[in-house]
Amino acid sequence: MPIMSHSEWKRRTKLGVLKPRSSLLKKVDNCLNEYDQKRGDPRLFEALCVALGEWIKSKDNVEDSARNFEGAVTDLIRQVEDFKKQNINPASHLMAMNHLEEIRKGAELFKQGKLKPAKITVPISTGVVDKSAGHVVYEGFTQVQLPIAKNAWAEAYRAAGLAVAGAAKAGTDNTEKTRLTTWLGPTSVTTKLQTVKDNLNAMLQAFQKNKVTLSLREDKTLHYVNGDDPFGDMVEGFNTSTVYGFVWSPSWGHVGSGYRVILGNVFLRDRTPHEDAQTIYHELTHKVLKTKDHAYGKEKCKLLVSTPANALTNADSFAYYAVSFLA
Ligand SMILES: [Zn+2]
Repeated sequence: MPIMSHSEWKRRTKLGVLKPRSSLLKKVDNCLNEYDQKRGDPRLFEALCVALGEWIKSKDNVEDSARNFEGAVTDLIRQVEDFKKQNINPASHLMAMNHLEEIRKGAELFKQGKLKPAKITVPISTGVVDKSAGHVVYEGFTQVQLPIAKNAWAEAYRAAGLAVAGAAKAGTDNTEKTRLTTWLGPTSVTTKLQTVKDNLNAMLQAFQKNKVTLSLREDKTLHYVNGDDPFGDMVEGFNTSTVYGFVWSPSWGHVGSGYRVILGNVFLRDRTPHEDAQTIYHELTHKVLKTKDHAYGKEKCKLLVSTPANALTNADSFAYYAVSFLA
């Protein structure tokens, strides 16, 4: 039972005008009154205990007193003893009291119609900044997840450099020619090879010079670029393929120098080698090269080269080509 209120105490111990309350009893009354107004304040509880103790000591047996006609004295003593036994830390006691006070104040303001909804502004870049390779901001990663993301970025960054160097040799080196043909189609047309080189170069530049924010949103499983809003509702009925990450729709043009990549929970869940680096490279091609998703996955990308125009504008084709250098 909680400690009774001051008004209950007064009502249940009232004996009439011919029986005035002693000064020690008045002390108990006052302390209970103060405590009642600021329950949770350990100092006021302490004062109540002292006053009650003094009053008890002034009697042979306080529970025999006429004031206990309704058992109020017995009740109060028991309630105070019970509360003491709970052994609540005075600091948390005080904290609870302060919270209560805030809630009371808030309720009062609400009643007066003075409360307005809180303005929540989503911070754009509040994560961990890492400039060891390029300029990356990691958002929403735990201490355990962060090293995985950092490694994925470092690998994607490395792949971007190796891809540029590899494509430069594709005109003369057979291994590199085969590699490029496998993922991006035949290199027989000179202008096409140049386009690939330019694209890979633009990607490397982006890795080196642009500020990229990798934002982990593990609540996202299936998703794709949904209009202007990557945080919008999941679009259902897309198909059964799982999307590992997504970016703001590049179709309406990229604004500013920074890139923001939203990574879904599969980004960390799929531990296939280089798959996380592939995801980062893939998403950035949407931003940098305005690629589309004509086909996902290694097998479908290999088939896509039969329609070279699609292979050359496909995000996964560039990404698989780039990470093939990591193997
Ligand atoms: Zn994509």
